[in-house]
Amino acid sequence: MSRYAALLVLEALILQLGISVEKPAPHVAIIGGGIGGASTLHFLSELLNGNLEIDLYEAKTVGGRLATIKIDGDEFEAGGSVIHPKNMYMQRFVKLLGLEHNFFDNQKYGIWNGDEFVFTESNWSIISLLKLFYRYGFQPYKLNRYVENMMEDFLKIYDLQDAGRSFANVTELLSAMNKDFPNLLQISIRDKLLHVGFTERLINELEQASIVGNFGQEVDVHSFLGFISWAASSDAWAVKGGNKRVPEDLIYRTKNVNVMRNRVTKIRNLANINDSSRYEVTYTNKDGTDSITSNYDIVIIATPLTKDQASQIEFVGFPDDLVFPGSFQTTHVTFIKANLNLKHFGLQETLDSILSCNPNKTNINMVLALESVDGLAKKNPRVWRVYSRKSMESSLIHDMFSNIIEKKEVAWKVSPHYSTNLNYNNNFKLHDALYYINAIEWAANGMEMSAIAGRNVAILAHNDFLQMHGFNKEVIKDSIKKLRVSTEL
Ligand SMILES: Cc1cc2nc3c(=O)[nH]c(=O)nc-3n(C[C@H](O)[C@H](O)[C@H](O)COP(=O)(O)OP(=O)(O)OC[C@H]3O[C@@H](n4cnc5c(N)ncnc54)[C@H](O)[C@@H]3O)c2cc1C
Repeated sequence: MSRYAALLVLEALILQLGISVEKPAPHVAIIGGGIGGASTLHFLSELLNGNLEIDLYEAKTVGGRLATIKIDGDEFEAGGSVIHPKNMYMQRFVKLLGLEHNFFDNQKYGIWNGDEFVFTESNWSIISLLKLFYRYGFQPYKLNRYVENMMEDFLKIYDLQDAGRSFANVTELLSAMNKDFPNLLQISIRDKLLHVGFTERLINELEQASIVGNFGQEVDVHSFLGFISWAASSDAWAVKGGNKRVPEDLIYRTKNVNVMRNRVTKIRNLANINDSSRYEVTYTNKDGTDSITSNYDIVIIATPLTKDQASQIEFVGFPDDLVFPGSFQTTHVTFIKANLNLKHFGLQETLDSILSCNPNKTNINMVLALESVDGLAKKNPRVWRVYSRKSMESSLIHDMFSNIIEKKEVAWKVSPHYSTNLNYNNNFKLHDALYYINAIEWAANGMEMSAIAGRNVAILAHNDFLQMHGFNKEVIKDSIKKLRVSTEL
């Protein structure tokens, strides 16, 4: 028997007897403390049974695009706000961390084109349905059915990941859910909906308002995003105390994590230098002056890498050029505690949210009455969140609102500029043990998408690391099975 075969038999015997195999402990760098970085940290730590050392670098604040803001003493979501009931990882995290759901009262919305409201909900749901039918026929119902079918396929990702499947790039991940999903990236939602028989009116009003509201863009985005945008649910929820509590608690409860309040500036491939580590990470100290380095076996990037991001990372010594084309959409989010000026919108009675289907004319993407993160905010006057492409001019604010008590603005790079042009970096695996979670954002972004990509990268990194250390596939599968048990809460 060869030495290799003998090793395999020994490993199989060890597995049969249920003896756990001691695995080497990797030194891991995770760059970015948002939900993507936190999710990878959680899943990788479970896969390796806590047998790893992690440095998590965060240049600003843990939570990233999940953050809260205080208005008149109450706290509101400032970034990522609502979670779909079928977002399984966000549900599992909340349960695991002992957090609670914050549900929203039914919100009455209207769709505005700058001249008139093309649709407004009524206080009575039956009247709203009749109004919807009168204007769009069965089309919204038909689109709901279409998107529900698509969601069925999307949900397959959870079983695939529980079974230990991982994907080197976004196209492979989407294909595993449904072979047709990658094609949806190549056709705009406008063309796709026209092609399958939807009307211009539904596309230009309902679908357009959903994309303008969620992503600040229009119906020329690719159709995968267009369908995800439509999937918004009336049972949407948020985390009591703020969605940021999920990344915060995931990070601080995990053992062997060292949170580094530093900005990473460079990653060097050490493969050609005689060093047992694979990568050298350079970071600045807190005041941004000195450069310090540390070496790692695995490096995971959990932040977008396009040229327009505030913190740029240089890649040195890699065989292929690592390039990240594309740019991100800036959305200005203005929080205003005030009364809505109905006259500005030509409204007779107030609404909870106003969605624009013509942002060039309306100057805003969406106006939304907010619930505070504990659901207890004083409501007279209410706090409104306004999304716009440009910073709101003072005259516009005073036209839209009266009795203004407080106003704050945050400018976010919310999501990629989506189109049907596939010129973006599609790879979760950038090099042997260098991974990129935010490649997922080019299919669609959101908390759950980052969590899914985070788990994908954790499985990739775990499998690659063990394979590199000579472990066979059965041992690797066994670790994944253990993970499956711990995530089935
Ligand atoms: C206004 C707004 C509304 C949204 N609404 C929703 C919603 O309703 N539902 C939903 O699901 N999603 C929503 N999203 C999107 C969602 O918030 C994001 O998709 C998600 O939070 C992204 O998480 P992430 O961990 O991938 O990235 P981020 O949260 O961006 O985390 C990246 C982190 O990396 C850090 N970083 C960057 N560069 C470096 C460096 N060089 N060194 C060290 N650290 C670095 C950053 O400071 C940041 O904290 C919204 C986003 C915004 C802004």
